[in-house]
Amino acid sequence: MTNKGLRVPEEPIIPFIEGDGVGPDLFKAAFPVFEKAIEKAFKGKRKVQWLEVLAGEKAFKERGEFLPQDTLEAFSRYLVGIKGPLTTPVGEGIRSLNVSLRQSLDLYVCLRPIRYFKGVPSPVKRPELVDMVVFRENTEDVYAGFELRSGSAETLDLIKGMQDKYGWRIKPDSGIGLKPISRSNSRRLLRAAFNYAINHNRKSVTIVHKGNIQKFTEGAFRNWGFELAKEEYADQLISYEEYDNDPPKGKIILKERMADIFFQQALTRPEEFDIIATMNLNGDYISDALAAQVGGIGLAPGANINFETGNAVFEPTHGTAPLYAGLNKANPTSLILSGALLFDYIGWHQVTKLIEDALRETFNRKTVTYDLARLMDEATEVSCSHFAELVCKNMEGL
Ligand code: NAP
Repeated sequence: MTNKGLRVPEEPIIPFIEGDGVGPDLFKAAFPVFEKAIEKAFKGKRKVQWLEVLAGEKAFKERGEFLPQDTLEAFSRYLVGIKGPLTTPVGEGIRSLNVSLRQSLDLYVCLRPIRYFKGVPSPVKRPELVDMVVFRENTEDVYAGFELRSGSAETLDLIKGMQDKYGWRIKPDSGIGLKPISRSNSRRLLRAAFNYAINHNRKSVTIVHKGNIQKFTEGAFRNWGFELAKEEYADQLISYEEYDNDPPKGKIILKERMADIFFQQALTRPEEFDIIATMNLNGDYISDALAAQVGGIGLAPGANINFETGNAVFEPTHGTAPLYAGLNKANPTSLILSGALLFDYIGWHQVTKLIEDALRETFNRKTVTYDLARLMDEATEVSCSHFAELVCKNMEGL
């Protein structure tokens, strides 16, 4: 990382975590697509040295721990990596490995582009109008991990303290979760969203929050966004309160929506939304809901990024899909597109374009995995690996 951005060698070493559940199937399918696109773009002048690092069940089996220190060190050292989904138990057991990875590398932006590929089945009438990039704050909110179990001594102590100190009456059998939203972390996420909107010539940034109810967390996030825009982006951003849909030339509109109405409007008028900046939990819900409009989470890529250090870990939005583990059935598109995002991030734009064009062609030909085939007329259902082989084949004609 330099002060002008990443300086990428001709043969970068890129660590990867295969992941749990469908992860191994997805990587087996995606690697040939990555290799084919790199070879076609650079004719051997550039290559990737893929370096496997362990996390999740495979790490536990081989090393007796779920997230070995050397995995974190590899991601830290090589800056850019990619991972499959990892299992997180609900209600008990280990903390989320994904959250640990994001927090330990301070990957404060979760960036999730949501866009439509022609031919993919959708539950909405005009999926081609969906073209959004979600910037989800990745290090705090309820994901900060400050939770206490119902009935424990610490919980009872905290409940008593809050009653004594602030007069807050909380039922003694409650579990407690704390939600910190800081000005500094909110501002760096919002700054990343604003910079992205400017660098990619986007039309608007919408801050999505529930600030009417959670005034000092979500409401503050909203206020810090408008404050930051005024302080640092007065030449590029303009508040919707001054201009709504017809801003002066060259200006990007800064809007806001309550999270509840956002879900409705993202469905009924998606064309009004472009860059979305929001907090951790909202961002999680929103990205899956938006993905449903463009074919589902089998097609939804993501990236966790720290724009200052350059560190980035790319990953599908979906989880381990345990029902399909080892069946060579899951849709590898989300991982393939996460790879395409990675190549774009390191400046290998030709590779990204080849991958996206080959995917487009494969969807056009209606050769798709089970998740899409069940929603399409006259589609041919293919396995995870065969889908990827067809993507490679379709790349040859490009
Ligand atoms: P999930 O793994 O995302 O799967 C939910 C459903 O989404 C699947 O049953 C399937 O739906 C569909 N789906 C997911 N991936 C797909 C793919 N590649 N192709 C086609 N369809 C796909 O969610 P979950 O079952 O709630 O979570 C399972 C585990 O994953 C949990 O331990 C959770 O914590 C973890 N998780 C990890 C990450 C991460 O690593 N970043 C993210 C989310 C969840 P149908 O059955 O309807 O076809």
